[in-house]
Amino acid sequence: MSVPIRSLPVIQNWDCHGCSDCCRIEAVITDEEKRRIEALDLANDPEVAPKPWFTSMSWGGAKWKLNHRPDGGCVFLTTKNRCRLQERFGPDAKPFVCRLFPFVLIPAGNHWRVGMRFSCPSAAANQGRPLADSEKDLVRLSRQLEQHVGRSADSAPPPLLQAGQPLPWPDVCRIVAVLLEIVQDRRDRLERRLRKCLAVARACSQARFDGLSGNRLSEYIQAVRAGVEPDVPREPVDLPRPDLLLGRVLFRTLLAIFARRDRGIHRGAGMWSRLGRVRAGWRFVRGRGAVPRINGFLPETRFEDIERNSGMPAELDETLERYYVVKLNSLQFFGPPNFDLPFWPGLESLVLTLPMILWLRRAFADVPPVQAVQQAIQIVDDHFGGNPMLGLPHIRFLQQTLAQRGELDKLVAWYGR
Ligand code: SF4
Repeated sequence: MSVPIRSLPVIQNWDCHGCSDCCRIEAVITDEEKRRIEALDLANDPEVAPKPWFTSMSWGGAKWKLNHRPDGGCVFLTTKNRCRLQERFGPDAKPFVCRLFPFVLIPAGNHWRVGMRFSCPSAAANQGRPLADSEKDLVRLSRQLEQHVGRSADSAPPPLLQAGQPLPWPDVCRIVAVLLEIVQDRRDRLERRLRKCLAVARACSQARFDGLSGNRLSEYIQAVRAGVEPDVPREPVDLPRPDLLLGRVLFRTLLAIFARRDRGIHRGAGMWSRLGRVRAGWRFVRGRGAVPRINGFLPETRFEDIERNSGMPAELDETLERYYVVKLNSLQFFGPPNFDLPFWPGLESLVLTLPMILWLRRAFADVPPVQAVQQAIQIVDDHFGGNPMLGLPHIRFLQQTLAQRGELDKLVAWYGR
């Protein structure tokens, strides 16, 4: 049975502006989609690259990826930056993954939530019509997604809060509602709101919710929220600096993944080779001297300058709030959209993106602050929930270590100064 779309974020706008960035990333398609495209009359079309158009991604050819031209564009991208499949045969001729981007549809029991990939520059810059205007398209896409994966939305199993602690979808949404209240409470700066979310996560991770559900669960989470309030330091300067080894080195190790761009027109220098990536990663671990330009947006700068370049204009909070509201409201931070992380570790991994974004925005010192933050969000969100490296056990371990040792709170405060 089809279920409705709910809770579209009212603060987010979007329209495709045809930049073709998404036509330069990896698009995975099914065998059926491959056969459908091959059956189209594309022979001798001068706007389509020569074959082969697909590369197999699995034994037996169940999954394929669209090939790219030497300049990084999809084989079906025209000289005018348009999709040739759409241009000649209509939008439904495109592979499903291309039709869906930059939306992410997440089944939440009896309804869908809608997330966004902020690697799309229009989403990061909030350009276009309110998301509500896309509701009809989203309903259509949700039906197509069910057909595409061969499962109905209401069959999605309830998520885990942490290992061995499942929670029904309606109760998960109740916890998210309280987190959203915290993140939208403008009496605090954004960085403190996220530190409060971490404090709630810590307190709730100690609790079992046996027998607690519905309104009683909401009241409990609100009580936890009120309980942690006096314990969360008011100003970022009230927290100590991140530990030299545990905080800063681990942080930069992860930053070397989040800040890079391995493909497309904004690919970083040397990012095409494994050796280049390893070398750049080592320089991030060291954290001294020139910052390797691991994405095409990064200007020439030094690690020392970024550490000195503090200052957090209040106007940045609005852009950051929009990003975190969309990520929380869409439930895009745990379960399948985020490498099957349980709820609380997923929340911690989302909060870790804040010091990453703020580090990058300091690197863009010559760009107006709001634009710098939007660009930083675009880079970091290209990886969040998308880069398979972040699902590797040792990378997860690093993320959890930062959170469990209290270093994540310090990093949020340090780069939020
Ligand atoms: S990245 Fe966004 S704006 Fe650019 S073509 Fe794709 S959907 Fe459109």
